[in-house]
Amino acid sequence: MLDLRDLYQEVIIDHNRNPRNCRAMDDATSHAEGFNPLCGDRLTLYLKIQNDIVKDASFKGNGCAISTASASLMTESVIGKTLAEAKLLFQNFHDMLLKDDKTAEQKLGKLSVLAGVKAYPARVKCATLAWHTLNAAIEKKHETVSTE
Ligand code: ZN
Repeated sequence: MLDLRDLYQEVIIDHNRNPRNCRAMDDATSHAEGFNPLCGDRLTLYLKIQNDIVKDASFKGNGCAISTASASLMTESVIGKTLAEAKLLFQNFHDMLLKDDKTAEQKLGKLSVLAGVKAYPARVKCATLAWHTLNAAIEKKHETVSTE
């Protein structure tokens, strides 16, 4: 029988091999750069926001499997969300990984596949990079976001 942990691994491997929304966006209304010096992950996040709704989200970058899978899952989950809903997802994702918050984890649906990362503190930064960059793009901060 397939272990739940293996299933999580499968989703992460799939999103790393075939990242969703991995493209530049010509008509983005906002973008931000993220960098995780600890691992060397870099990404540019693009957002198209209309009437406080994320109409489209995409990213380009070079990073490890965790950072790529996390960016792929993040873009997939914020498209169609309001900015308030996207910020709440980030809060829950953050609390799942940094506070081991089970209630937050249960609210995350598919994003909870990354819960296993919390056992590896160095990799938590790989998983949260896309989310910090999302926050910067929403807030329209133009300096590169660093996890350090
Ligand atoms: Zn990484």
